[in-house]
Amino acid sequence: MKFDYSQNKLHDYLECPRRFELRYLLQRIWPAVHSEPVLEMEEQINNGKIFHLMAQQYFSGIHPDVILMQVENEKISTWWKEFLRFAESYNNLPHQSEVLISSKINNKSFIGVFDLLVYSPGEKNTIIDWKTNHLRPSRKNLEQHIQTRLYPLLLTSGGKQWNNNNEIQPDQIEMIYWFANYPDEPQSFLYSEQQYQSDLNFIKDLINQIETTNLGDFPLTDHQNRCNYCNYRSLCGRGSKPGSAEELDTLDLEFLYEEIEEIDMKQIGDIAF
Ligand code: SF4
Repeated sequence: MKFDYSQNKLHDYLECPRRFELRYLLQRIWPAVHSEPVLEMEEQINNGKIFHLMAQQYFSGIHPDVILMQVENEKISTWWKEFLRFAESYNNLPHQSEVLISSKINNKSFIGVFDLLVYSPGEKNTIIDWKTNHLRPSRKNLEQHIQTRLYPLLLTSGGKQWNNNNEIQPDQIEMIYWFANYPDEPQSFLYSEQQYQSDLNFIKDLINQIETTNLGDFPLTDHQNRCNYCNYRSLCGRGSKPGSAEELDTLDLEFLYEEIEEIDMKQIGDIAF
């Protein structure tokens, strides 16, 4: 079976090896509410999805007023005004949105999706990620986050096509997070050779741990609070009641969105075919 590593998969492994095993190796489907209140969470997820689609349309050349006409949502309209202020300068540079990048790291396949890549062959390359969470994570949390460690690494190893067919060097890369609810407080991370080596070793160690663990031996997390937001909690005997969305870590909420999208896609596939 072809297995591509991604930030979601590695995030799950770091959160709980057993979750990684259940979700990706055993492909165990176990529907459950992730957090409460359910309607509020659904609304947040939908708003985030709509916003990402609007940003993609903007960077594909559609006029911002035309894009805004599609939505009647006060929150998204507010985000949109702030987004345009931030995005305009990048729209004048060579760019590509929703970039699917795949690459081999230590002979293993990895994939990622950049919300936006702004590139300049031989010079700087900027990966930009839109975040629509209520709360803004601390710089320290973001710095250690798997997305910040994996995406620049993917661009160095798999980004030749944006650099005249030459490998992109770590010091040519910047990663920026822009927060729709904190539009004047983006977080920028400049990449470096030292960070590249550190991230490469970190990812290699992680993959080695995963691939030397036998099925059935992936341990349950010691952090039981993580189980409150995990769909497998009843399967693992870690309770049945979902946690509160308010207490969920801001970055985890984002992963929850993506995971639910993945489950939706699988379910659509099952029904349609
Ligand atoms: S319920 Fe807890 S132990 Fe079980 S997979 Fe989820 S996070 Fe891991």
